Amino acid sequence: MKPTQDYILEHFDLYNRTMFGGTLPVLPVRLTNARTYMGMLTCRKRVGWFGRKQCSDFCLRISQRFDYSEQQLQDTLIHEMIHYYIGYHQLRDTSAHGTVFMQMMNDINRNFGRHITVSHRTSREERVQLLGNQPRPRVFAIIAMSNGKYCIKVVPRIAQRVRTMHRRLTADPQVCSVAWYYSTDPFFALYPSSMGRRMQYIDLDEARPHLSAATPLSVESLSL
Ligand SMILES: [Zn+2]
Repeated sequence: MKPTQDYILEHFDLYNRTMFGGTLPVLPVRLTNARTYMGMLTCRKRVGWFGRKQCSDFCLRISQRFDYSEQQLQDTLIHEMIHYYIGYHQLRDTSAHGTVFMQMMNDINRNFGRHITVSHRTSREERVQLLGNQPRPRVFAIIAMSNGKYCIKVVPRIAQRVRTMHRRLTADPQVCSVAWYYSTDPFFALYPSSMGRRMQYIDLDEARPHLSAATPLSVESLSL
């Protein structure tokens, strides 16, 4: 199912009353197209009295990119609501999914028969699976950086864009080499496609089996 504002707000209200004592004020919900997360709670951090960090302007982001089961969507929402509860009530936790988070998560799972995990933001396999089985054609560069690391840059599948990005990348003094590929492997579908400056680091060992099945492209003789 695809998430909607109505569905999320309705279930936010239900879980707020049943799981969080009705203590959470309604917050803005943004439906995004993100590939990198299913749900994310954002806030504005500022340093308050005695150097204590305080969060305000909470916003809940849910990605519409994925085809969720109803339970997955609900668990994603509850997961983010635990973050919201901890942030809103300024509870101190040991880390993002620290002891306070885990305690609340386990209590909710036990008392309400949920299956919330801490992996909503991190499980690559799960997100690849949720993208579905249809091929995802992508054109991307694997960039060797001068610091010894590798980056990936996905661009729109338009020859002109590829050439423009290639010129930009090869002019960058931090870039050692650029190799272009075409692939329909969902592995590459999670990296956002853009003409912006941002690129992602990529673990070459993890990517190698996917890269060896990809088609190398020559920028000089491109016909996309
Ligand atoms: Zn989380």
